[in-house]
Amino acid sequence: MVSAIPNQIAASNALTNGTLSIVSPFLNEAESAPAFTRMLAELERIVAERFGLSVEVILVDDGSTDGSAAAFSSLLQGRWKIVQLSRNFGKEIALFAGIEAARGDLVLLMDADLQHSMAVSLQLIEAIVNDPQTDVVYAVRGDRRESGLMRLGFSRLFYKLINVRQRFTMPPDAGDFRIMRASVARAFTLLRDKKRFNKGLYAWAGFRQKSINYIPEERVAGVTRWSKFGLLALSKEGFTSFSALPLRVLSSFGFLLAFAGVAYGIKILLEVMFYGIVVPGYPSLMVAILVIGGFNLALLGMLGEYLWVTLSETKDRPLYIVRETLESTPAKTTAPA
Ligand code: UDP
Ligand code: MG
Repeated sequence: MVSAIPNQIAASNALTNGTLSIVSPFLNEAESAPAFTRMLAELERIVAERFGLSVEVILVDDGSTDGSAAAFSSLLQGRWKIVQLSRNFGKEIALFAGIEAARGDLVLLMDADLQHSMAVSLQLIEAIVNDPQTDVVYAVRGDRRESGLMRLGFSRLFYKLINVRQRFTMPPDAGDFRIMRASVARAFTLLRDKKRFNKGLYAWAGFRQKSINYIPEERVAGVTRWSKFGLLALSKEGFTSFSALPLRVLSSFGFLLAFAGVAYGIKILLEVMFYGIVVPGYPSLMVAILVIGGFNLALLGMLGEYLWVTLSETKDRPLYIVRETLESTPAKTTAPA
């Protein structure tokens, strides 16, 4: 009877339908389509051979305008399909749509630009298949050559700040490249935040997570969709939906300023009363006005950000809209008689 609980956990993590779902969002990746689908086919073959799992592929077209959908749809085979969104919703939501469509026991998230290699994917699959106690395995970038020092420093600071006094921590350098069990995928789709910050959501969801290290491949074609501005916007999302720290820092600063202002006022009052010193000129006044005014504006801006998140969350819109689902036509896979 001692083993009752561990058995139960193992049973709930047992693979019931023997399917691995691979979810890949793409935005204008027509150039990568042939190489990526070739890799998927190879991965499918190896996964069947090595782990006895069948593969379902869900490609999410996140509003591509370069004919990616046509390029990918001509390369579909077996249980592969394309969920085509009605416009560009952003990678975070495209992934969400893919995870929601996934039916496998295991769900592997992979970029369509070949930066997430087959070898690392196999490592992820192996790590989760061989360990029933683990619910999520995520890949951590071991080397960030492509990132400049500025970006790296900024990202370190970001994680330091965002992890201050949280009940869950977001591991730095962990992205969407990960594999999870169906239970985790279901939990993730319950989190219907509209302003999505996946790293925060993965951490919030909990479960037993494990990491492996990897070095991302170079992009084979195209360019990264993340501009500096986009990254900044995303980290803002991270803060406003997962941390009240900026508000707390600012309001403490506000109290300090107000307190200093009152003390200074008392000092001036006492000087006038007891020594007859008239307030000397404008400089001190200007400084006070500028400091307090600037601080007020900053705080108002911060409040606005949080308010904007609140507003978008209260609008009861769906997270995404599917335009069409494209499946592989069986005729293509059967040889003509
Ligand atoms: N992507 C997407 N929607 C977007 C931006 C990107 O579906 O709005 C896809 C993109 O096609 C790629 C993956 O998300 O398959 C990662 O994007 P990218 O390579 O630009 O990001 P990075 O690798 O630089 O983090
Ligand atoms: Mg990439």
